[in-house]
Amino acid sequence: METENTDPKSVDIAALARRGGCVSGSASLAELVRLSEEAHPEAKPGADDLYRWRATGENRATRAGGSETWLHLEADACLSLVCQRCLKAVETALRVERSFRFVADEQQAQAIDAEIEEDVLVLSRSFDVTELVEDECLLALPLVPRHDVCPQPLAVAPDPVGSEDRPNPFRVLGELKLRHKPSPN
Ligand SMILES: [Zn+2]
Repeated sequence: METENTDPKSVDIAALARRGGCVSGSASLAELVRLSEEAHPEAKPGADDLYRWRATGENRATRAGGSETWLHLEADACLSLVCQRCLKAVETALRVERSFRFVADEQQAQAIDAEIEEDVLVLSRSFDVTELVEDECLLALPLVPRHDVCPQPLAVAPDPVGSEDRPNPFRVLGELKLRHKPSPN
């Protein structure tokens, strides 16, 4: 199968499916703005961080003698998320592998959506595959990202002996209470 050089932001899905074509590429992860917003504030994707994608079209014959238009999407990315246990960055691999059926219009899409559990999209001569990749990566994010083993002791754990870097939260609370005590006048 030949890989074509097409602008991923403007793919003619029907034409791609008709010839069983495949478009693929890699691009800067930072360009996926909505996805990048999910990254750890101190570990946002840099210029060298890429995601890879590949979209393959297929015209699938139906039993009734017609044909259905399909797009098979694959994508890979690696994003540093916020570990929900220690709040440090945790490198998370995102993998997308999903097939979409394309139909002529929104009405048809809704009708099919109601009866079967397929991902149905509306055909376009200028379909933005990049946006679909981003949507799917967002869906692939783990609900609760966290390290298998956190690199540092938890923030709520008692301070190790000799560590005076962080103020003890209970002491801070005590000081606040003292400060707010009405002065005996
Ligand atoms: Zn962690």
